Amino acid sequence: MSSQLSDKLQTCKLTFEDVLELFYQKDPAMVERLIRERHESMPVRSPVKEPLPTESDLEDFELEPEPDSDEEVDPNYFYINEMCLKKIPTKIKITNPEHIKKYYPSNDITNIHKKCTLPKGHDGKCKKNFDHIFKTNEITKKLLSSVDKAINYTPGNDDYVYKNRASRLYPHYLTAKQEKEIRDKNIKKKCAIPKKDYSTSLYIAEAYIDWMTFIVNVMGVKEYINNDEYERTGIKQLLEKNKKHLIKFYSNRKIFDNDGNSICVITKNKINLNDIADIDRDNRTDIKDTDIQHGHNYPRSEKYISVRGCNLLPMSRKGNLLIGENVFTENKWIDELKKIVSIN
Ligand SMILES: [Zn+2]
Repeated sequence: MSSQLSDKLQTCKLTFEDVLELFYQKDPAMVERLIRERHESMPVRSPVKEPLPTESDLEDFELEPEPDSDEEVDPNYFYINEMCLKKIPTKIKITNPEHIKKYYPSNDITNIHKKCTLPKGHDGKCKKNFDHIFKTNEITKKLLSSVDKAINYTPGNDDYVYKNRASRLYPHYLTAKQEKEIRDKNIKKKCAIPKKDYSTSLYIAEAYIDWMTFIVNVMGVKEYINNDEYERTGIKQLLEKNKKHLIKFYSNRKIFDNDGNSICVITKNKINLNDIADIDRDNRTDIKDTDIQHGHNYPRSEKYISVRGCNLLPMSRKGNLLIGENVFTENKWIDELKKIVSIN
């Protein structure tokens, strides 16, 4: 609002809301649109800075960001304040570095670690996951393995340059352009991962608790959890708080149904346990439209890290195809679908 207009408003003792009210009587649709647009332009988490593929930069990249004191602005605030996040050393074998000496002249990488996903101040040992709160059987084995693969590993690859299902923490990553430069169909180099699939230990821990928040709210999953352990460890309370945090973050979209169950955020269909872990089916070859994949708010990209807190969402295979490479919280994909419906 211009200062002149603001002065005039003050002289006649009208507030901005009063003016809106006046406009509303004249053109309610326009005012509703304005309010909606104002709401939708609320800050969403901006993509993180593009990392540079050198070891010294990797060091910076691993630093924990200082949480912004304003929770509305920085969703990291939640994870850093609620989670333990202590370092857990881990080993990653560097393979065939000779193929990418140009990009990584030294291979002396020693600071690989994961982060503890338990609530801040927990007792007992730090842990990378919540597997210990689940009852042990074939279904939970498949369910937890699907979570581990989605969060910690890159998607399948052909091994010519990029390793098949490597750790997202693999410290050598290449852009699609760099990958093409060294690709040779006669040698399986297995020397890097795609830059768009790389993540850091902090972001993996954040993405993990987000994904587990959706998993424990899938209909039928709670009967596979040891409730005493779930409550005693504080994991239940952590995931309940995170559910509220995610609902607030995605305030312009519905991400759980009215009963609090997890849904495909695009089709809004309630998720069944066998959409994630079906012991009678190999869901890599025997596929269904309702199979749940890990979808993103901001799609995979080389410009930012997509596996991070407040960026993973459950999407069915069908839902993921419908949204394509669009941003979930923006309206472009909905407008495109409406247009298709209107002309058919
Ligand atoms: Zn810990």
